[in-house]
Amino acid sequence: MKDKPTLLGFKRSKSDGSMMVWCPYCKEWHNHGSESGHVVAHCTLNTSPFKDTGYYIKPITKTDMAKIKECSE
Ligand SMILES: [Zn+2]
Repeated sequence: MKDKPTLLGFKRSKSDGSMMVWCPYCKEWHNHGSESGHVVAHCTLNTSPFKDTGYYIKPITKTDMAKIKECSE
């Protein structure tokens, strides 16, 4: 059985807990509800490996945010 990947989830501020994840294969944001843990991939790209495995959504933390900020400067 394949390992299931984990993507960082970003909470959308204007909604009640729904999450967005950045998909490195489709190169776009996928919208998810407030479900956490393992979800079915919302991939539009047919060759995306997530279509087989789905992925885990890990809500982003302040530490993750700090790292992203470091990378973007
Ligand atoms: Zn995707």
